[in-house]
Amino acid sequence: MPLPKAELHLHIEGTLEPELAFALAARNGVELPYADTEELRKAYQFSDLQSFLDLYYELMAVLRTEQDFEELTDAYLERAAAQGVRHAEIFFDPQAHMARGVGIGTVIEGLGRALDRSEERHGVSTQLIMCFLRDQSAESAMETLEAAKPYLNRIVGVGLDSAEVGHPPVKFREVYEAAAALGLRRVAHAGEEGPPAYIWEALDVLGVERVDHGLRAMEDQELVERLVRERVPLTLCPLSNVRLRAVDVLEQHPLGRMLDAGLMCTVNSDDPAYFGGYVGDNFHAVRDALGLELEQMRVLARNSFEAAFLEHDEGRRGRYLAEVEAYEFGG
Ligand SMILES: [Zn+2]
Repeated sequence: MPLPKAELHLHIEGTLEPELAFALAARNGVELPYADTEELRKAYQFSDLQSFLDLYYELMAVLRTEQDFEELTDAYLERAAAQGVRHAEIFFDPQAHMARGVGIGTVIEGLGRALDRSEERHGVSTQLIMCFLRDQSAESAMETLEAAKPYLNRIVGVGLDSAEVGHPPVKFREVYEAAAALGLRRVAHAGEEGPPAYIWEALDVLGVERVDHGLRAMEDQELVERLVRERVPLTLCPLSNVRLRAVDVLEQHPLGRMLDAGLMCTVNSDDPAYFGGYVGDNFHAVRDALGLELEQMRVLARNSFEAAFLEHDEGRRGRYLAEVEAYEFGG
C-alpha cells in the first residue's frame, strides 16, 4: 500500500498521456504532427521550461469537449489513487483553451463531471485551482476571472503558471486582489526559473498562501527564514525540475537541504505525462536519489495534508493525517 498523500501541484493538461492524445485527436479530427505515440514521446526532450510549454500547448489542441476533459481527469485520478493520493488540488489553464475556441464552461463542466465521481470511484477528494497564464496580459487574466464567475462554486482558488522569467508576480496584483475579494484562495508559481525576488513578491503583493516550486528560495537566507517562520508550504516537483533543467540531476536537488532548513516542503508531479512520473514516482525518486529517511517521507506526506485547502472540512484533514501517522513503511 502506498504512503497516503495529497497532491497540490498538478496541471490537469499535463496529465495528457500520448495514447490518450492520439485517441482524442482521432475522435475530434485533430491532426497531430507526430506519426505515433513513440515519435511523440521522443519529443519529450526539453531544454528548459519554454521548450516544454511549446509542446504542452500544441497537444492541448486535442481537448475539445466536456467528455475529453472528463476522460483526461478520470485517467489522472485513477493513476493518482494507485500511487496513494487521497486528496488532489488540480490546476487548469482556461486561457489556453479559450484562445482556441473552447469555452471555460466546457472545461469546468468536463473536469467537474470527473471530480463529482472521484471519491466514489477513486477514493480521492478534490478541489480545482484556476491558473492564469503569466505570459498573457493582466487584462486577459482579469477577463478570465470574470468569465469564471458563474462557476465559482467549482473553484477553490487561483494560481499563476507558464513562462516565469520576465513576468513578475506584481503584474497580476489587481486580479489577485479581485480573486481575494471573491473569497478565492491564492497560490502562484514562483522561484522555479525566476529569482527569489519573485517569491517575495508572490507573498507580499499577491498574498499567496502557498508557493508553487519555490526552489530558488534557497539562494536567499532571509527568505528561507521567513518561509520557515510563517510555515509557508512549497509545492516542489523534483522530476519536473530535472526534466526542465532547473537542476542538472536529481542527486543535486535541494529538497533534502530544504527539509533540513525547516521549510514546509511537499512533493508533487507538476505535469506527470511529460516529466516521467506521477507523485508516487516522485516520492520514490527523491528517496533513492537523496537518501531521504523513511520518517522524512512521512513528513512530506503530513505536510501535503497540512498545506491542503481543507479548512472547510477539518475532520477530513484529521482522518488523512491519522492515516499518515499510522502508515507502516514496507507494509
Ligand atoms: Zn507547475
